[in-house]
Amino acid sequence: MSGHATLPLVAIVDTATWTYSPALEAASVAVSPKHGLFIGGRWVEPRRGATAITLNPATEEPLSTVAEADAAQVTAAFDSARTAQRRWMRTRPQERAKYLFRIARRIQERARELAVLETLDSGKPIRESREFDVPTAAQHFFHHAGWCDKLRYAIPGVSDPRPIGVCAQIIPWNFPLLMAAWKLAPALACGNTCVLKPAETTPLTALRLAEILQEVELPPGVVNVITGGPTTGRAMVEHPGFDKIAFTGSTEVGKAILRACATRRISLTMELGGKSPNIVFADAPIDQAIEGIVDGIWFNQGQVCCAGSRLLVEESVLDEVVAKLRARMNRLRVGDPMDKNTDVGPINSRVQLERVQSYLKIGVDEGAAMEICGNGELPSRGYFCRPTFFTGVQPSATIAREEIFGPVLAVMSFRTPEEAISRANNTPYGLSAGVWTSKGSKIFDTARRLKAGVIWCNGFNLFDAASPFGGFKESGFGREGGRHGLRAYLSH
Ligand code: NAD
Repeated sequence: MSGHATLPLVAIVDTATWTYSPALEAASVAVSPKHGLFIGGRWVEPRRGATAITLNPATEEPLSTVAEADAAQVTAAFDSARTAQRRWMRTRPQERAKYLFRIARRIQERARELAVLETLDSGKPIRESREFDVPTAAQHFFHHAGWCDKLRYAIPGVSDPRPIGVCAQIIPWNFPLLMAAWKLAPALACGNTCVLKPAETTPLTALRLAEILQEVELPPGVVNVITGGPTTGRAMVEHPGFDKIAFTGSTEVGKAILRACATRRISLTMELGGKSPNIVFADAPIDQAIEGIVDGIWFNQGQVCCAGSRLLVEESVLDEVVAKLRARMNRLRVGDPMDKNTDVGPINSRVQLERVQSYLKIGVDEGAAMEICGNGELPSRGYFCRPTFFTGVQPSATIAREEIFGPVLAVMSFRTPEEAISRANNTPYGLSAGVWTSKGSKIFDTARRLKAGVIWCNGFNLFDAASPFGGFKESGFGREGGRHGLRAYLSH
């Protein structure tokens, strides 16, 4: 159980004398062998037999046993959120802000522990957990704390902002803590209460966040964290009481949720998959673009909804870009994610590894040329996959059309800006896009014509709590972050 909230969880390491040791870092964070459900501000025992094991994808060793909530426990979590909502929505906005500030501060104070836990459970390199996931999660709470007492100015025409009510929030495994913060912070700022379900393979940081909520004495029931897989998720979707479902995950499951909700009056936000284009014009700063391509597809092993997985390069610089990319990719260190020098850790689960491997085979079978890159021996255990790119890819090829959600890039070329834009938009998705050029007018012209929710110019995978994020078409609807993200949690 997570009933150890009052015990010291981290052996404090003297940073002045500390020298890096992956083993030391991992050893310094205690992982409870058993976790319950966080309902009504208390830890609730799992039902007998209703548990699952979460693994360390780098070693395939068990990390902890986690509860699988059933329909009755979903109802208990909902009931506690409904009861808490009556008070929370009337809590003065300045008071709500204080809780959000405290949560943000505690995330910062416990940052090292959260980063280690995230890397152990998800496999993402510790450098990314430390420098991106955990600080950005804190940033979301800081940002939304500032909004609590300013909501009446948030949305034009809304002078009496009211919360939607009780929100079911279902999140994926690629950014577990960040997705939890991304969902909870705006919901709480607007006076909603929540039942949050992390993904079955990465529940640990959301559960640790629940401990933080206890520490800051967030009123019981305002946030409930329940664990489990698709069965628990379906029970949340089928529960008739929720006023909102905020879902981040695959397009397939997103569609199933939409079908299940078709006849209900319920607010929905869908953050789904992507197959995003990264367009490099011949006049781009090529060395800078290479870094952006690498960040765009190998960040978090490519398990990023907005990954720049389709590289479109102007034909006259294709050879130069591919040569530089190959050289850069062969310097990417693949291996132990607890090592701060690792660039590419394991894939999150065996299922996902096998899915990625099946796409590598399809790519070769359909005639593209595969290059497997990366530096370092692969460990003998763990779900590792080397960063890979394909050249000679036809736009109609499976690897150019379907979301792989792994460290695999499809490289294609174009001759004219028209062709670049039509190829970029030729996808059922519309989440993000990148444009690399040194001409300002080309940036604006291209960005205006791309059908993507987020467009980065001379950069990729840049995030900020103040910026709205979300997609078009099969990438979903609704925005998270910034002023637009608040709209999704207000009744209007
Ligand atoms: P997934 O859809 O399999 O699972 C996501 C969550 O939904 C998990 O918590 C899972 O337990 C739950 N779930 C599964 N089946 C369900 C059902 N029938 N009803 C209710 N809940 C159910 O996705 P995943 O494999 O965890 O994540 C990868 C996907 O998420 C990718 O497609 C990626 O693009 C997408 N994603 C999108 C964004 C975004 O902001 N657009 C961000 C991150 C990930």
